Amino acid sequence: MADVFDSDIQYIPGVGEARARLLGLDLNIRTVGDMLHHYPHRYIDRTKVYPIAEVPENDSALIQLRARVTGYHFAGQGRGKRLTVTAEDNTGSVSLVWFRATRWMEKRFEVGREYVIFGRPTFFNDRLSMRHPEMELVEKVLSQPAESMMQGVYPSSEKVSKLLGSNGFTAIMGALWPMVKDYIADPFTDEFRAKHDLMPLREALYNIHFPQSADLLKRAQYRLKFEELLAIQLNIQSRRTERLAKSNGFIFGKVGTLFNRFYEEKLPFELTGAQKRVVKEIRRDVASGFQMNRLLQGDVGSGKTLVALMAMLLSVDNGFQACMMAPTEILARQHFATLSRMLQGLPVRMGILTGSSRVRERREVLAGISEGRVDILIGTHALIEDGVQFSNLGFVVVDEQHRFGVRQRARLWTKNHQPPHVLVMTATPIPRTLAMTLYGDLDVSIIDELPPGRKPIHTSLYTDAARLRLWGFLKQEIAKGRQVYVVYPLIRDSEAMDYKSLEDGYAAITRDFPPPEYVTTICHGQMRPDDKEESMRQFKTGQAHIMVSTTVIEVGVDVPNASVMVIESAERFGLSQLHQLRGRVGRGAEQSYCILMSKHQISTVSKQRLQAMCDTNDGFQLAEMDLRLRGAGDVSGTMQSGSTFDLKIANPTADVQILTHTRDLAAAILESDPRLEAPMHAGLSNLMKPKAGVNGDGSWITKDFSAIS
Ligand code: ADP
Ligand code: MG
Repeated sequence: MADVFDSDIQYIPGVGEARARLLGLDLNIRTVGDMLHHYPHRYIDRTKVYPIAEVPENDSALIQLRARVTGYHFAGQGRGKRLTVTAEDNTGSVSLVWFRATRWMEKRFEVGREYVIFGRPTFFNDRLSMRHPEMELVEKVLSQPAESMMQGVYPSSEKVSKLLGSNGFTAIMGALWPMVKDYIADPFTDEFRAKHDLMPLREALYNIHFPQSADLLKRAQYRLKFEELLAIQLNIQSRRTERLAKSNGFIFGKVGTLFNRFYEEKLPFELTGAQKRVVKEIRRDVASGFQMNRLLQGDVGSGKTLVALMAMLLSVDNGFQACMMAPTEILARQHFATLSRMLQGLPVRMGILTGSSRVRERREVLAGISEGRVDILIGTHALIEDGVQFSNLGFVVVDEQHRFGVRQRARLWTKNHQPPHVLVMTATPIPRTLAMTLYGDLDVSIIDELPPGRKPIHTSLYTDAARLRLWGFLKQEIAKGRQVYVVYPLIRDSEAMDYKSLEDGYAAITRDFPPPEYVTTICHGQMRPDDKEESMRQFKTGQAHIMVSTTVIEVGVDVPNASVMVIESAERFGLSQLHQLRGRVGRGAEQSYCILMSKHQISTVSKQRLQAMCDTNDGFQLAEMDLRLRGAGDVSGTMQSGSTFDLKIANPTADVQILTHTRDLAAAILESDPRLEAPMHAGLSNLMKPKAGVNGDGSWITKDFSAIS
């Protein structure tokens, strides 16, 4: 029997072919099952409407108003056009603002009519305003069948929300529900549910889409998160057991001449204690007969590259190839240059492969790899494309893991019939409990010690009022022969966001730091790879004094002479990103500085984040802090792109208690029944099979797709 959950969404009443196509393209929703598991990311409480005068000033939670539109006006030109709509109720008035507005928008709001307005309040000079709120005519909202007191707001894309309107998903769910409700099978037995206080699956799915009360919604969310996290834990833990049972790892039995010669002749400094310990851990793993699968965490600048190099030499010493995958072109080229330099004079054949490798060069490298003429290959994700065949890959290093999905990591393994050892490195410190839980199939090593002689970076926070002083300070540093980074969150101003942009910044900097006395260079993601590289080269060689860039230089880039990192609109960045950026300086012996620039008025959480940056240099402490501040979502962002599973509802940061609970539970279940063969575990073993159609292409839909505010 064809499964109703696998049928095409175009047959849901009210969807049809055109919408189905767009939903598939934009949101990856293709089957009825996908749609059923497309959950609201927030809810409008239809019972709670704020009078404008009573909107709390110190709270940024989303709120609902009901007000009459009194006028609108456009300001600005071209792409940067701004629409301001004013609206009033009996107690006051509000400004509703859209950036990058089109004429089309103005027709949506009629002067004199009353709207339900939903958004995040901000205050400017005591005046309430909202950016990009959701709006609907009052009549329209009232004429909706009152399915529930709370209406779900669904993650969406710009195109989809234009086509469906703000209630579109609710309507689809209404049509969908009668089709599926009798087929929803609960993977949990009654006994299991009673024991863990979980509501039945059908009731949970109903309440997630049509909450019957705040309490039922909470229980529905708990149930679905519990199921999702338990499934992950069962998967991770059984996979680990399997891996350890197979014992089919390559055995690197000897420490050979390359490793020893490098250590004795080439190593320019003494390894830190932590580096020594990790090298030992790796040596033990690769000699054990089990396939190694290790996560190496170490703060920025802690010297992970060196550890990776030594591990790769072990591989080559034992007759195996090794490769190292970096998240960006810049970083791959930098690794290639650094490693080639360190290995000079040793008989190691290196190759590099990136997206912009030229055809001839690429063909040569590919042949070299497959015929065993390349020992160590460095590259970007071009390494895992289909045409790349190793002759005997024994060791894989993945640098800066958080930029890669685990699916990409998994692809590397299939390049051999026997899986190579894998070392995943990250500078984003993940609190240990979380790492163990989410990356449960990895062993964890930590470098918790910086090379000697580093001075702690001095971090401070300023607003535009201090701009002149800042410029003066940069000039002083440059006069001492140092170099400066200035990082922006945006390339140009046109975005719907009120942050500094690189283009504006570059104009200001070249005006105040005029050539030829000062040389300023640029690097951002939309530049051609050659241009980026040339710009990096100028900075590295010291020809350029100032590097103006976006976060493309966030990971790995190593220019020891750079001593100042200025981060514009720092409130825009999460803690781990700020810490990564700061890690670009403080690599040499001089005192280094990180200067955070922000708007005068920022949210309390942003303020705490920036203050934390000023207070500590310790990445692990910052990660813990991030966890506490939540909402920053940094750690979970890392998890989302880095972890094996695409989470639909659980958030590993916020739901850490459910996470630990399900981890222990999964361990207990697997201990009593490792293959989940008992009849009472039949449902659980179903949980471990991938759900049809769910993110089939491996993409991750963020929970906050449409939220611009
Ligand atoms: P990350 O862990 O951020 O990748 P890197 O591997 O880029 O750090 O190392 C940062 C800098 O520290 C490099 O310039 C590297 O040569 C240097 N370094 C690494 N290990 C040591 C050490 N034991 N002593 C002194 N300098 C070191
Ligand atoms: Mg690095």
